[in-house]
Amino acid sequence: MTAPDTTGRHGGTTVFHGGPVWLAPGSRTSALAVTDGIIVAHGDDARALMDRATDVVDLDGRLVIPAFNDGHCHPVMAGFESFGPQIAELDDLAAVIAEVGRYAADHPEEEWIVGGAYDAALAPEGRFHASWLDEVVPDRPVLLHANDHHTVWCNSEALRRAKVTAETPDPRLGRIERRDDVAPYGTPLGTMREWHAVALITDAAPERTIDEQVSAVQAACRIANSEGVAWMQDAWVEPGEHEIYLESARRGVLTVRTNLAFRMDPDSWQDDLAGFQAARAQVDAFGHPQLLTAKTVKYFVDGVIEGGTAEMLDPYCGSHDHGLANWERESLIEAVVAGDARGFQVHLHAIGDAAVRDALDAVDAAAAANPAWDRRPVITHVQLVHPEDLERFAQLGVIANFQALWAQEDAVMRNLTLPRIGQERFDRQYQIASLDALGTRISFASDWPVSRNNFVATISVAATRQTDAGEPEGGWIPGERFEVEKGLLASTLGSAYQGFTDHWRGTLQIGQAADLVILGSDITTADPLEMRSVRPEATYLGGVRVYWAALQPPE
Ligand SMILES: [Zn+2]
Repeated sequence: MTAPDTTGRHGGTTVFHGGPVWLAPGSRTSALAVTDGIIVAHGDDARALMDRATDVVDLDGRLVIPAFNDGHCHPVMAGFESFGPQIAELDDLAAVIAEVGRYAADHPEEEWIVGGAYDAALAPEGRFHASWLDEVVPDRPVLLHANDHHTVWCNSEALRRAKVTAETPDPRLGRIERRDDVAPYGTPLGTMREWHAVALITDAAPERTIDEQVSAVQAACRIANSEGVAWMQDAWVEPGEHEIYLESARRGVLTVRTNLAFRMDPDSWQDDLAGFQAARAQVDAFGHPQLLTAKTVKYFVDGVIEGGTAEMLDPYCGSHDHGLANWERESLIEAVVAGDARGFQVHLHAIGDAAVRDALDAVDAAAAANPAWDRRPVITHVQLVHPEDLERFAQLGVIANFQALWAQEDAVMRNLTLPRIGQERFDRQYQIASLDALGTRISFASDWPVSRNNFVATISVAATRQTDAGEPEGGWIPGERFEVEKGLLASTLGSAYQGFTDHWRGTLQIGQAADLVILGSDITTADPLEMRSVRPEATYLGGVRVYWAALQPPE
């Protein structure tokens, strides 16, 4: 089997007409023609090609937009979660436990029950007990990822197999939640926070086979295509995991263009970096740069606010705790300079204002230390930025990559985030419009499966800052509302720029690759809250239809 040729396989000409085609904010056309995967004509010029077209699509008022580009997600994890217990959308603890029990009973052959991602707000302070899972699965290990993906909840059998006991000290980077009972440290509760604590459990689980991993990529690509996604940034690739994508591409199941980011580990990056260069060379040698690249390295600067692990300039409320820095500031700078010097784009997870500052300082240091190049550094999440740091994004050319779906006052925000950071900091979160106004390049992402990769909903949340129920009236921090067409741009061209693909795709201008989506209706003229229910009806990758819903039956 060979990799799909995503630009030329679909020979002939397709004309889309009968509905608006969105080109850019304030700019649209009435028809679009695609020949051999490339956009060749707009409007009347496109309609003139209908006579000799091999395919004519009557949009019947539907909207054509460039395909979405997901600037930060975890496809392999998402694919596996689509196989396990379906707990991501459950908002009740008893329902999560029941679903785990149902899944375990239906899958007696699975030695470990692995799944995600449960809502970390369902238990007070996010402290989940092993005993709750023991009630439904007493004899096999259960390992569940939280929706922050920095935490796992496991049962007693998993703790036993991982040999985590009251004698196990907290690892350097991580916390084992405990009972205040026996010496020396207390019985593990069943909740593990951050890398090294999470790894105590995950390392005890059996390794996945390459066939299982490729199946996960295939499932992830199908879901992503159904959400209108044509390009994605895998934001967390461990040493050797690029092989999963190479094999997926060889088997023809990689139907989303993908860029890989290798995770720089604070303890081992100096040893890992040569391997990342070799992996990048291997991906380059595979020779399908329009389908698979490995241009990026990833740094987890900090954790998450709701877990108390984001790194803050001022301490969390009612404590002296500034969070958990994964990196010493100086070693982060050293590692970012080193990654940049080897021609890797840097992609930095930074949530707390201290982490954002460290990330900006590290990018600044790389630009000062290394020769000029088109480096396009990315800071992702960008939840809390100190006011003095806002303008540094544009000054340093840093792309602000937002999971705009999170910019709403939901239960996690109210119950976990607000008590930890207090009202003043609470009211300065996700400053999308402020950063845009300062000239920052904005890209959107999902962090799927941390949250859904539904970009219509993401754009709606950015535009309204409201929950699905329309709360609060007028929007949460209304000054940061980001209008629908700007959100569309951030989800298409913004993330295409982030992925170094904007010179050949990312818009529907003539000459670009036909990565496009037909949406059920025109979201640019709809009510920005009502539009949330609009769905992609077809997705094209280089002119090849990779997803369709009601518009046309499958071939
Ligand atoms: Zn992520």
